[in-house]
Amino acid sequence: MDRIDRIEDTILPLSVQSLYTDGSFHPANDSSPSSMTSAWIALDDDGLVLESSSMHLPSYFPSALRSEISAVLLGLNALSRDSSISIHTDCSQLISLWIRFVNAPFSPKLLREPNHLLWLSIRQLIMDRNLNVELIKVPAHGDDIYNIQADSLAKDAHSSLQPTTLLSTFCYAPCLLTFNSLPIDVNIRHFLRSIADARAFLSFCSLACFTALGSPSLFDWAGIYFCLSQIKGFASHRNGRPEFWIFRIKLLLDMLPTLTTLQQRKPYLYSPDWLCPQCNSAPEDLNHLWTCPYILPELNPCLTHRSEVIKFRDSCLSSFLSLKSLDISFRTEFFALDCWNYEAPSSSCLWLTRGLLPAHLTAFLNQHFPLPVIYKIISPLLNDFQVELYGEIWLCRNVLFHAWEESQGISAASKLRGPSTISSPIATSPQQHNSSLASVSQDSWISWISSSIIRGGSWISHLDFLRRLTVQPLRISFW
Ligand SMILES: [Zn+2]
Repeated sequence: MDRIDRIEDTILPLSVQSLYTDGSFHPANDSSPSSMTSAWIALDDDGLVLESSSMHLPSYFPSALRSEISAVLLGLNALSRDSSISIHTDCSQLISLWIRFVNAPFSPKLLREPNHLLWLSIRQLIMDRNLNVELIKVPAHGDDIYNIQADSLAKDAHSSLQPTTLLSTFCYAPCLLTFNSLPIDVNIRHFLRSIADARAFLSFCSLACFTALGSPSLFDWAGIYFCLSQIKGFASHRNGRPEFWIFRIKLLLDMLPTLTTLQQRKPYLYSPDWLCPQCNSAPEDLNHLWTCPYILPELNPCLTHRSEVIKFRDSCLSSFLSLKSLDISFRTEFFALDCWNYEAPSSSCLWLTRGLLPAHLTAFLNQHFPLPVIYKIISPLLNDFQVELYGEIWLCRNVLFHAWEESQGISAASKLRGPSTISSPIATSPQQHNSSLASVSQDSWISWISSSIIRGGSWISHLDFLRRLTVQPLRISFW
């Protein structure tokens, strides 16, 4: 085993009787990333402090518990063979986990637990050095002088230099799985699933129908993911409306059978020259559904779309204002967002109509509300908005469209038939997209996952298509 990379191996004399360990954790905030530290103090049987140590821990799966476990591991690492000691800690969770993971025989179930690498290292270290360890709980905010000392040592370590190499203590884990040079110290099966999910989602974000619209950073993909994940009825098709969910998904993917889509799919039935059958003024593509100027007493797509956007906008505003009182400028700025510009309508208004949350909308709201709250508010309102579009525009348009198809001699039977051999030698031309596919880096998922290891939380909260996370290559010594 290569032990060169290990942090200084303090070897304490056998006279060590007790260790006081403590960890400190600062969760991430807007201005700084999370920070974990740990410290230990070694005492002999006269209560004399022999040695103390503190360390700024590398940030993997940051949590308060992790800093506590690391403190114990680092303390044990300093002991000499055959030491017999008691460890004093104010973390009761640590003690109950110790009973499950260290005092019990090894079980593969341990591998499903967060921080299992640390626990396995502790087990291995105890065996290798033949240590006899007992854990003792001290009151958290009591007057135990050594506990206070360990606590302040740990707190001070936040300002010390953070090591960039993989914590040496992992060396004791019998096996170390890494991802992009980062240790995988969570349930492996869940971790592998998150990789599959992140890769699938990246493929989704990279679809030509989205990249054709512009840079992926124009959209709030985490929000779009949230809204899609609300489609529960779709999978079970129990609570009705599967046809509406199909509409929502086809709308998002620009796969609704508009005339433009049909012209591309079946040019032998739908002449490429045909314009919108209603207004005959423009091709009937997805956006035209909401901007068609055709007016019937019961159908006015343009006005209906506008009034539904207004309804959607106003219900968003009142939902957000019901959470928190904000001054009048919030309302003014919210209304001024480009995505509510229904007059033209703006591109971002059309994206929102499809279910593509524009990034500027959530970025604005995020100044006042956390993202999970924003998604939870917007998702059902977006759904209501699209229900209206479905009922008031799409279904009505379909009735008229089918009547028009019949008048053109396009029957259900002719749609099923393929192109006749004589007509139309032109193959279905692939949809024209001025694709900006290059702007989506196909390994983005690696930085999403790496970022979730370093900063904590799910990969979906680390979507980043622009600023690439640079993970410093870690020098790990395997043995
Ligand atoms: Zn039209």
